[in-house]
Amino acid sequence: MVRQAMVAAVRRLSALGLNRGTSGNVGVRLAQSFLVTPSGVGAEELQPDAMVEMDFDGAVLGQGQPSSEWRIHRDILAARAEVGAVVHTHSRYATTLACLQRGVPAFHYMIAAAGGDSIRCTPYVLFGTQELSDLALQALDGRKACLLGNHGMLALGADLKAAVALAVEVEALCEQYWSALQLGAPKLLGKRQMQAVLERFKTYGQRLQD
Ligand code: 13P
Ligand code: ZN
Repeated sequence: MVRQAMVAAVRRLSALGLNRGTSGNVGVRLAQSFLVTPSGVGAEELQPDAMVEMDFDGAVLGQGQPSSEWRIHRDILAARAEVGAVVHTHSRYATTLACLQRGVPAFHYMIAAAGGDSIRCTPYVLFGTQELSDLALQALDGRKACLLGNHGMLALGADLKAAVALAVEVEALCEQYWSALQLGAPKLLGKRQMQAVLERFKTYGQRLQD
């Protein structure tokens, strides 16, 4: 069940240290609407029936106070047909780079996991605003992850499992980039090198027989 899976995802993000307290949120597409985590509820307190269902006009279907970032979830799910779930974290290394408003360049080939040759960072604007959602959507153009300036990270996936996995990967990349920066200027991969990685990713891993 989707609501139960959302509780499990929030608890996992917390257990992994990607979120704490009431920071971060999760949204999942339904047939004609979407579910978003409630605002200001910690991972331990969160229950499946507390998830808030909303339509794409931003109306709450049923009851509950949705995440303050419901616009981000609504706008991404509306604009990106291939996306089924959105994960937002205030994880340590992604947020550290976001506090410098520093995106992540192609310092490692796994940057391609986020869909391109970089992970962009938005400027700072107030949490919960339409402006933040607009900036996030721009930063996500052609990408599955971005940093939010002085705030945190967004990761998208075809489903919740994929979005959580990408959030974990992006956090690891931010940690690796941060580590490399301690020693000097990382050698960046070129456009063609990253293009080759993106091509290779199309056939990487277990292929389903069809
Ligand atoms: P919510 O508890 O309203 O989801 O807010 C947490 C957060 O991360 C805001 O950006
Ligand atoms: Zn946040």
